[in-house]
Amino acid sequence: MKTEGPAKPDSKRAEPARAKTLPHRASEHRLSGIPVSPGIVIGQIYDTTEAPAEAARRSIAESNVEAERQRLTDAAAFSRKQVGKLKTRLSVLPEEAQEELEPLLDAYILMLGNSRLLRGARKRIGEELLSAETAVQDEAEAIATLILAAKDDDKSGLNRRAGEVREIARRLVRNLTATPFRSLKGVPVGAILICDELTPADAALLEPGRVAAVATEEGGADGHTAIMLRALGIPAVLGCPGLTAAARRGDQAVLDGGAGRITLHPTAEALAAAKEGLAAQAKERARLGKLRRLPAETTDGQQVELHANLEIPAELPLIAQAGAQGIGLLRTEFLFMNREDLPDEDAQVEAYRLIVEAMGQDPVTIRVLDWGGEKDMEALAQGVPVPTGPNPALGLRGIRLLLKKPELLEEQFAAILRVAHLGNVRILLPMVTVPREVAAAREIYERVARRLRRRGETLPEKLPPLGAMIETPGAALAADAIALEADFFAIGTNDLAMYTLAVDRAEIDVAHLYDPLHPAVLRLMQFAVEAALRLRMPVSVCGEMAGNAKLVPLLLGLGLRSLSMNASSIPRVKQAVRSLDIDDCARFARRVMEQSDPAVIAELVERFGQKEG
Ligand code: PEP
Ligand code: MG
Repeated sequence: MKTEGPAKPDSKRAEPARAKTLPHRASEHRLSGIPVSPGIVIGQIYDTTEAPAEAARRSIAESNVEAERQRLTDAAAFSRKQVGKLKTRLSVLPEEAQEELEPLLDAYILMLGNSRLLRGARKRIGEELLSAETAVQDEAEAIATLILAAKDDDKSGLNRRAGEVREIARRLVRNLTATPFRSLKGVPVGAILICDELTPADAALLEPGRVAAVATEEGGADGHTAIMLRALGIPAVLGCPGLTAAARRGDQAVLDGGAGRITLHPTAEALAAAKEGLAAQAKERARLGKLRRLPAETTDGQQVELHANLEIPAELPLIAQAGAQGIGLLRTEFLFMNREDLPDEDAQVEAYRLIVEAMGQDPVTIRVLDWGGEKDMEALAQGVPVPTGPNPALGLRGIRLLLKKPELLEEQFAAILRVAHLGNVRILLPMVTVPREVAAAREIYERVARRLRRRGETLPEKLPPLGAMIETPGAALAADAIALEADFFAIGTNDLAMYTLAVDRAEIDVAHLYDPLHPAVLRLMQFAVEAALRLRMPVSVCGEMAGNAKLVPLLLGLGLRSLSMNASSIPRVKQAVRSLDIDDCARFARRVMEQSDPAVIAELVERFGQKEG
């Protein structure tokens, strides 16, 4: 969970100075990270570290001086944390690189303390009534100009010092403005994009036809950025230490998303192996493509629903290609990302209409806004309580925020209800922890429906079902009570694992502890599934677990018959379903649930897969 201070920290940028100060390697160099989205790509590195951060000049009213100074203080604290974090990771780099980078990062940390840059910027805010970002830019330019004018023969030293001041100002400005990833616009077709960290909002801007692959220093396997990359079918390796220091724009590289590997300056043999891998990949794709029209049915005739998760409308064609039987999770956050104002009801209607119409009579499960945690959304900074507490993931996230700001929920319910008659819609509530939240949301839902009917809108006779995400241990253990209020459950194993194990799903330093196969997570899932099945209530899994073909025997064995996943996983999962017998799965799940060691469970899963495969 991110605990950093400022409202809109922009932690995704990389280290220009780092990339530029290191000697250029021309020999093969292999780096490893977390395998996040499979696929082999041979391409050229596009290093976003050279992106400039320039904020538009802005003045402020006198009454805002203190608030503006506070923004600057917060951004400086956040920037210090970022640089401090980079410093802790230096040990993974070669010694020569460490020696070069350590003093540089120390200088950055000093400049982010009570430095001339910050004191000067603070003064400009008050005296010249400038926004924090404009004040920082002006002060940095003034200092750089002075440095460059100094009488000193060491011109390159002066240039370097001026560059450092400008660089630290850029970091501050980026953190103050959370500017969208501007450099993405210039990405050449077929490039391997690299950066420190990519936020989910940045990932939403990627064009799969342009960006061939992504690799970052930060990030975990099941964070929203990882989910988005998988959804877009962009091969990716996240959490790859030393990457931005080692790679340069234009370097040739091979990225293997399935193996979590990046090879810079590959040798002829490495290139030949990658080409073989590409050919095998194409063959496998063609083979899986043939499964599209076959039913997802076990060998003993049990039907399993395979639905797709959708993060952005651009994925719709992928969903059709994959043979999904519906959308099991439409994350509506995309509507609120990369914009400065809130989308109104009509804008939402248009977005939902497109999706619902495209899916015909197949179910479309629309989850209302799940804002909070790592998903920062500029639009909501306007007039919505920003979850900046010490622990946003434990704060006003998901349904909690919507009940606190019911006008947001009302507008979204209204938009969804207005398209409900066009297809087969279901509505899902995120981050439910107590039954009362579902009841409160239902009251609003029914009130909105009555209002729309009075207004003469066409609504289905029976309102779409209202379901609850089960994604916290509290919700899982209270599933029997929540089941009395909700019409269906969708188990969000990404957050369930995060909250159960107290491990941030997007945090590289604890990625080794993030394990949805931990018995605690599985027991909570089992409890929730059984609570639903007792009431004959539909229940699905829509976390990333559902898209892992190796876990299908376990999930079916636990009683699940509905799985929702990123579209590209559907063929493999279908293949697994078609090879399984439900009684075998039930026996296997019983065996798994007797275990207490996650490693033993992982081993059992692996072995069952091999036996079947
Ligand atoms: C989950 O938490 O498993 C889930 C599906 O929701 P999200 O990944 O959007 O948080
Ligand atoms: Mg979730």
